[in-house]
Amino acid sequence: MTSKFWSETVRRTEPYVPGEQPDIPDLLKLNTNENPYPPSPMVRDAIQGELNRKLQLYPSPTVEGLRQQIGEYFNLQSKNVFIGNGSDEVLAFSFMAFFSQSKAIRFPAVSYSFYPVYAKLFNIPYKTVSLNRDFTIQPECFFQSEGGVIFPNPNAPTGIFLDLESVRDILESNRDNVVIVDEAYVDFARESAVSLLNDYDNLLVVQTMSKSRSLAGLRIGFALGHPDLIEALTRIKDSFNSYTIDRLAIAGGKAAITDSDYFRDTANKIIRTREWTSRELKKRGFHALPSSANFVFVSHYKHTAEQLYANLKEQHILVRHFSKPGIDNYLRITIGTDAQMQHLMEKLDELIT
Ligand SMILES: *Cc1c(COP(=O)(O)O)cnc(C)c1O
Repeated sequence: MTSKFWSETVRRTEPYVPGEQPDIPDLLKLNTNENPYPPSPMVRDAIQGELNRKLQLYPSPTVEGLRQQIGEYFNLQSKNVFIGNGSDEVLAFSFMAFFSQSKAIRFPAVSYSFYPVYAKLFNIPYKTVSLNRDFTIQPECFFQSEGGVIFPNPNAPTGIFLDLESVRDILESNRDNVVIVDEAYVDFARESAVSLLNDYDNLLVVQTMSKSRSLAGLRIGFALGHPDLIEALTRIKDSFNSYTIDRLAIAGGKAAITDSDYFRDTANKIIRTREWTSRELKKRGFHALPSSANFVFVSHYKHTAEQLYANLKEQHILVRHFSKPGIDNYLRITIGTDAQMQHLMEKLDELIT
């Protein structure tokens, strides 16, 4: 479909299709990698407190206070921190700030499906890099890129983590280009590339409060990097909208960073449940990729992913299926609570006899 009123830009877009958010009361929602646990009680209190104050005033355009707090958490300064309305916005701004319309960037062929969407929107050429047969990334394929590199670590939707030595090699061989490491799931993995920031001014680490901090509904993502990179993102942001982070999000975000005990606790619970879930799925004939995220990527030796997706949906369990060549026989299942995963296994036992 098209209209004579549409600009060139609108014509070339191929918008991202987010996972379904249906309004079904007893639905077990395991399709968009949300956290099954509510945010820290401190978040609710902070938002409540903010509601009683200054909603008639604009929020801070620089978000200095929250940037400082995030900086302290990572042993960085506020000038190393950029905050966006979800990390999707941070990623969109990054494509504009660091990638060029004349040089191809690289990202994995199996990866976050928003990357090609941004590339098309901003007219940035790209090459997708094939993965190994076991879905691991070959670091050498990202060496000496023409225009820059972006990949999630752990990768999505595979959940596979690339060790920091390999990340370092990619950074080392791309000294003149920005390498974006999208760490949406890093809190469920071993270690963050933040430790490499001192050595690499071409590294931008992007994280989010949507997954590990249970705040998908509040929309807070952030980037960590050299002040020059942060300045570039700020310039793009301030050319769009001075106030991307509202007062409630600032208050809630500060509380979420402060209550790190709660966050570590829930993340550890999810990691334990993930290991249990992988074992249980394997017992039932699934092949599960080794996950370092809050989801597992699985295929069954006998039942197609498409059929299982449909059968589970009938049972009011929603998982994610991508009809994309190479991964169309896999399901991405978000890790819920122990009780939710137990329920999933019971339903699977009925379905895959
Ligand atoms: C979920 C996700 C994001 C975006 O999260 P926001 O909610 O926009 O912060 C970014 N990258 C990857 C790989 C994701 O899975």
